[in-house]
Amino acid sequence: MPTSLVLERKGQLSLRDFPLDTNLGPTDVRIAVRTVGVCGSDVHYYTHGKIGPFVVNEPMVLGHEASGVVIEVGQQVRHLSVGDRVCMEPGIPDPQSRASKLGIYNVDPAVRFWATPPIHGCLTPEVVHPAAFTYRLPDHVSFAEGAMVEPFAIGMQAAMRARIQPGDIAVVTGAGPIGMMTALAALAGGCSKVYVSDLAQPKLDIIGAYPGIETINIRETPAAEAIAKATDDWGADVVFECSGAAPAILGVPQLARPGGTIVLVGMPVDPVPFDIVGLQAKELRVETVFRYANVYDRAISLIAAGKVDLKPLISLTVPFADSIAAFDRAVEGRETDVKIQIEMPVE
Ligand code: ZN
Repeated sequence: MPTSLVLERKGQLSLRDFPLDTNLGPTDVRIAVRTVGVCGSDVHYYTHGKIGPFVVNEPMVLGHEASGVVIEVGQQVRHLSVGDRVCMEPGIPDPQSRASKLGIYNVDPAVRFWATPPIHGCLTPEVVHPAAFTYRLPDHVSFAEGAMVEPFAIGMQAAMRARIQPGDIAVVTGAGPIGMMTALAALAGGCSKVYVSDLAQPKLDIIGAYPGIETINIRETPAAEAIAKATDDWGADVVFECSGAAPAILGVPQLARPGGTIVLVGMPVDPVPFDIVGLQAKELRVETVFRYANVYDRAISLIAAGKVDLKPLISLTVPFADSIAAFDRAVEGRETDVKIQIEMPVE
């Protein structure tokens, strides 16, 4: 039995043998996992034992941001071969569902998502995954970049939902990993400039190093003031709320131009107040984002084309044997850490 990173219960991780279903169906591929990113959701299950309605009642293998190498293909698989370098989309819907038929499989109530109880994740040497949700990586895209496609896909979904027009000016509130991914996707999607606000200067320094991104430290200047100044009091075309913080959410209408768009990306832990009249007075369009659908190909294409460089956001890479230490470091929440990745041993 292979060694996996197991969340035994809230606050307790172990590296141990763990039984997983390894049955290869005709439309599946078997993948030797190479790189797995540590996500805020993995860390939250570790520290809190639950996210909303999803509760860790049984030991669960963590991890959902992964790349690897195909080592076996099911009988009916045509587009992948043994040896292909790939990354995997962690949410598997029911292909027969109404949501899947509509192309919105991310909101299929039956979706099974890695490391979301009771579904096990991918911090284990081998996974079996549907070929339809497994994507080949071009030769010059590394496994590390492949494992960044998952968090970047959320930024892509946000950019798609915004329906960006060429030259739009955007604001991203919150410079966490998802805020950074959203800012880069918005730039790649046609924004001429993206302002990113946060109160942690080290985070702003990291994302502000990208051309096209300007930062606002809200300890020094309120975001509304900075955006008013930058846009001649007009406001931003698109506001991506990525902080999940109540004051930022309440303030989003002030950042948008009349007729602009708000995309709610950040997830507040508890219900928060929302300024409806502020939205109405500018006839703002409000979009929400839950994970992503049909964006992996686009995300990989942008990375392969050099239009999006996610490598500067990989802060630390640790071997699988040290993955508990990697999680403890993620719990610290250092402001200079964006993404911590775990590398599986190569057989
Ligand atoms: Zn994630």
